[in-house]
Amino acid sequence: MTFDVEQAKKWIITFNDKIQENKEYLTELDQAIGDGDHGLNMARGFQETVKKITEGKYDDLGSLFKDVGMTLIAKVGGASGPLYGTAFMKASLALKGKKEVDIKALVEALAASLDGLKVRGKAQVGDKTMIDVWEPVIEYMKNHETIHSKELTDLSKEKMDDTKELEAKKGRAAYLGKRSIGHIDPGAASSYLLFASLAELLEE
Ligand code: ADP
Ligand code: MG
Ligand code: MG
Repeated sequence: MTFDVEQAKKWIITFNDKIQENKEYLTELDQAIGDGDHGLNMARGFQETVKKITEGKYDDLGSLFKDVGMTLIAKVGGASGPLYGTAFMKASLALKGKKEVDIKALVEALAASLDGLKVRGKAQVGDKTMIDVWEPVIEYMKNHETIHSKELTDLSKEKMDDTKELEAKKGRAAYLGKRSIGHIDPGAASSYLLFASLAELLEE
């Protein structure tokens, strides 16, 4: 499969659909261990992003992802806006001038996103954040010549579910200490939806 501007738009649009559908759920997760705005932050940010990219004309993946990243940074408050924004800005740099790429190059760009997320948020695997989904998912994609849609979705979901047992070490949930245990991390849940949306593209 080749990943081009149309595919990339579809990815973001599918992700936004899932975010809107799961807005209440993401809010509930954040009510349990944060300030209850993750659903709202993501829904507002990605609605704006979709508006921006459906109106825009893009010659390459870099300029598309740059608009995604900048819109998220500008429109989303809280931790998640700058974090998702950074992820797309890093991918945009990696895909600068590229009209289309193969999956391997897309995965390399997403690996740069993960590095950016870790630098920005200083979280590691096990800290009960979105990194707990991102890192194993990127590892899986790096290590498999063919990425199976179902494996990608199942792994993302499993890693999201695994955050339930963790004690938060970063972000607002860290203030709760051990009381954060027993709840899925909201950012891990939205990240699952991001990779599930990518998996849907790979299916076609
Ligand atoms: P806020 O916590 O500022 O209200 P959100 O509720 O939108 O922002 O996002 C919370 C999510 O952001 C968390 O569930 C977690 O996954 C992620 N997050 C918070 N801090 C960090 C960090 N330092 N590194 C990585 N992810 C983080
Ligand atoms: Mg919040
Ligand atoms: Mg907040």
